[in-house]
Amino acid sequence: MFRRVALVLALTWVSSSLFAIDFTKYHSQDEIGQYLRGVATSYPELAHFYVLGKSDEGREVAYLTMTSGADSLPGIFFNGTHHGNEWSSTEALLGLVEYFVQHRNDAEVAGLLSKYVFYFQPLVNPDGHFHRTREDANGADPNRDYEYPNAPTGSQFKTKIISLMKKLIDSHHFRAAAAYHSGIEEVIWPWCYTSAPTEQKDLFYTFAKGAASAMGFSRYMQSYYDYPTDGEFIDYMFMTQGTFALTYEVSDDFTPAASQLKAIVARSVKGAMAFINAVAAHDAGHLSVESSASIVHALEFNPRWKAMGRRLE
Ligand SMILES: [Zn+2]
Repeated sequence: MFRRVALVLALTWVSSSLFAIDFTKYHSQDEIGQYLRGVATSYPELAHFYVLGKSDEGREVAYLTMTSGADSLPGIFFNGTHHGNEWSSTEALLGLVEYFVQHRNDAEVAGLLSKYVFYFQPLVNPDGHFHRTREDANGADPNRDYEYPNAPTGSQFKTKIISLMKKLIDSHHFRAAAAYHSGIEEVIWPWCYTSAPTEQKDLFYTFAKGAASAMGFSRYMQSYYDYPTDGEFIDYMFMTQGTFALTYEVSDDFTPAASQLKAIVARSVKGAMAFINAVAAHDAGHLSVESSASIVHALEFNPRWKAMGRRLE
């Protein structure tokens, strides 16, 4: 009898343990904070939890780092929910953290953890996430508030949360970065503000095509050809540090039914790993880079997007 009770308790403990995130539901900010803190507490040799600051309404703006090497290693930064109503992007970030935790001792992930410092930030815009609004608590779009080439002086970094992001970004050298969004299924790269390609267009093409393919997506392009925008995260990252920065749009719906989450999270992790491994291969000198010549021209006119109308992502 006692033995049976003990067994039941043990099984209950395993099924509700910290590192078995239930992706049949969306997570509250309290749950997300508890999870990130729990990872840092459980693996102090690998993971650290930081509070970057507070949002306009006093919510925590936090992130987790993971590395087995020195803090000075190049950074790889994944974040979600610049836009507060794009909830699947938050969950996809949690899935990526969970993947790193689960596979920390496997050759692939252990190798990556020895070469880079990973930054994971599921909630860039916690007030928007709470109110389920695209914008911050003052109605400003956070992903239009970064500096970009040719921005009028003093016009950017007006929001509290993106000022915090600037502090974090400027504190480290980031080799690669990805901002998760939702509202369509695609992977896009800088520039957003101009149709001119970057000098790294072939690398961006190779990275984005690989990530999109891993997720089963057929859309990948320079962000401008999706639609032109000023002040996006990826333009700032590339402009200031030459960071290989991508935007992932992880699901057609901003906040899809919870029953779809598991599949969205799983493919988002695949897309992240494809990108991270490609960056590592490039740094090791053995990535085969494809020419973007054909696609950049072909995507200057984007019929599907025009047919859908300009829904903001
Ligand atoms: Zn978005």
